Amino acid sequence: MSEAASASDPETTTGTALGRGPAIRVLPRLDGANRFFWTSGAQGVLRFLRCERCRRYVHPPAPLCPYCEDGQGRLEPEAVSGRGRLHSFTVNYQQWIPDDGPYVVGLVTIDEQDDVRLMTNIVDCAAAELEAEMPVEVTFEQHEDVWLPLFRPAGGRAGAAAGEPAGGSR
Ligand SMILES: [Zn+2]
Repeated sequence: MSEAASASDPETTTGTALGRGPAIRVLPRLDGANRFFWTSGAQGVLRFLRCERCRRYVHPPAPLCPYCEDGQGRLEPEAVSGRGRLHSFTVNYQQWIPDDGPYVVGLVTIDEQDDVRLMTNIVDCAAAELEAEMPVEVTFEQHEDVWLPLFRPAGGRAGAAAGEPAGGSR
């Protein structure tokens, strides 16, 4: 229960305090093809379409599998681990609108398949902690009927960063 509180206090870490994303979110428009993706967070899981024949994940959502040669591979949503790697990132310092703090835009590769990448925000992480290829895990932020998949450092690194000096000295 206290996890969120301890993990989301970037001001106790060194460097710039980072927000969770832009102050105003532009939400995706839900339709029959993408609704499963934007609402999966209600069950706390991340799901992607997966081909029933070649077993590859396909993102963004498509009507049929682009990897199957005859183009007839049927796609069904399937849950993934929610773990991935931070492929690349940038810290946005530009204040596009009032109260817009700095935040991290990251490109995350999911562990299940290298070419499935999500443009997302990295949260619960100080700017100095960000590293390419660092392991991250999904966390969801609900806005109306949309659960945005955001990512944070995997394995409790965020909690350590917020509460303890780096390096574990006492
Ligand atoms: Zn396929």
